[in-house]
Amino acid sequence: MSQQVLHFIDGQYVSGASPRVITVTNPANNQAIASLNCASDEQVLAAIASAKLAFSTWRDTPVSERARVMLRYQHLLKEHHDELASILAQETGKTFEDAKGDVWRGIEVAEHACNIASLSMGETVENVARQIDTYSYTQPLGVCAGITPFNFPAMIPLWMFPLAIACGNTFVLKPSEQDPLTPLRLVQLFEEAGAPKGVLQLLHGDKAVVDILLSHPDIKAISFVGSVAVGQYIYKTATDNLKRVQAFAGAKNHCVIMPDANKEQVINNLVGASVGAGGQRCMALSVAVFVGSANSIIPQLRDALAKVKPGVWNDKNAAYGPLISPAAKARVLNLIREGKEQGARCLLDGSEATVAGFEAGNWVGPTLFDQVTTDMSIYTEEIFGPVLCCMCVDTLEEAIALVNASPYGNGTSIFTASGGAARKYQHEIEVGQVGINVPIPVPLPFFSFTGWKGSFYGDQHAYGKQAVRFFTETKTITARWFDDDISRLANVADSATPSDSSSAPNMTIALK
Ligand code: NAD
Repeated sequence: MSQQVLHFIDGQYVSGASPRVITVTNPANNQAIASLNCASDEQVLAAIASAKLAFSTWRDTPVSERARVMLRYQHLLKEHHDELASILAQETGKTFEDAKGDVWRGIEVAEHACNIASLSMGETVENVARQIDTYSYTQPLGVCAGITPFNFPAMIPLWMFPLAIACGNTFVLKPSEQDPLTPLRLVQLFEEAGAPKGVLQLLHGDKAVVDILLSHPDIKAISFVGSVAVGQYIYKTATDNLKRVQAFAGAKNHCVIMPDANKEQVINNLVGASVGAGGQRCMALSVAVFVGSANSIIPQLRDALAKVKPGVWNDKNAAYGPLISPAAKARVLNLIREGKEQGARCLLDGSEATVAGFEAGNWVGPTLFDQVTTDMSIYTEEIFGPVLCCMCVDTLEEAIALVNASPYGNGTSIFTASGGAARKYQHEIEVGQVGINVPIPVPLPFFSFTGWKGSFYGDQHAYGKQAVRFFTETKTITARWFDDDISRLANVADSATPSDSSSAPNMTIALK
């Protein structure tokens, strides 16, 4: 029988008490690997209460001690890197190498959280007015919550809780119900790293669990990553409840190819960035915009994509794995069908792909369309599958106008040998993360992950300095000390009786 997915509430690993049961499956064959009872309302409330209690002491834990928990955690994550990747690969279907990358990008954020002392430093200015100094501190908010998607079950929880907790907050994590085993292992390792009881809570479940987090008065901030529709719902509901929110949502990322670009590089990079991870990446390149004669490489691109094969997680020849669920596959196949019906030319169709021995898996092969127009659903929808749409324009200006008209703004790339074209593109493009001859420009944790427009709702982004701002309040202190008081206290010290002699010299020293 399959494993029971445990929650972590008030320092205890427990089964969910709700009658709502979700089956976790292996996407390569759709067989059950675990069973998950959602958290009951009472369990959600108990987790929040425990996190609130833990906050009262964790907030005053010295910053160096908080940093040491992160150091131990980073070490444990590295020690368990392969183990985490194999759990992750089996529940998401990702290839082992891809799964290792998912874990590694999370480890880098935990590593960044070890710098919390310098990251959370305030500012000081002496003599803002005569004998008045102003200085600021960053202080934690309280209990924060994170709601994460299926496609990066290690990296995205690790975007959130290490930095939130390093800042002095406590945290309730509600990961995707589709791949909950990786987050469970992350939480176990965090406990092993010495995190005090109650600092991190893990709740599994669906909308009902999320809805309590969005409205509970003791949850001070919500960090969300997922689809556009849910992101908008989370942002509106949680801000209506006067919470601080950052909601990272869906995407439709364009890659602009100039005629002077290195053709081999473009083909290699486009293949990896469009169908890698089965296209289930918020930074996947899903639209290739060819400027002028750059479109001459489309036949070679098609041939390169045709060689790419999906496969199971431990098949070293597999380029990517299955989609997460039968529903995800059905949605992608439907969009491919609509693309053909709406007049796009399908140069490569992965609808019938399968993998020998794993015929029941959620396979979709690499798919390439050209003659795509902006009114087609394969252009307007985030496909989240291994599908690349090609469009052609005459000039760089037209390409920029096309990309800027998209409601999304997560990531974009330009391939060119021209510094001038690259400079114009980076300056004029209305997208938060830009790659120049780099296909998936996800910033490392000392920057922040900065999606724009419909790809992000909120003000402060994930990790980097922005995450510290998101997870803290700034307290600004303006202080004046009076000379009169100094001389008065000095007189008190001078007139101290002999019986006070043990304390008087210290006071005098302190006043010098
Ligand atoms: P999803 O929106 O379906 O689910 C995300 C989380 O929200 C899960 O924990 C889920 O349980 C919860 N949820 C789902 N429906 C809900 C509802 N009605 N009310 C409250 N909570 C609900 O997303 P997904 O399919 O798991 O992930 C894929 C999506 O995530 C894609 O759109 C992708 O672009 C996006 N994503 C964005 C980024 C980014 O940084 N912008 C990163 C990764 C993934």
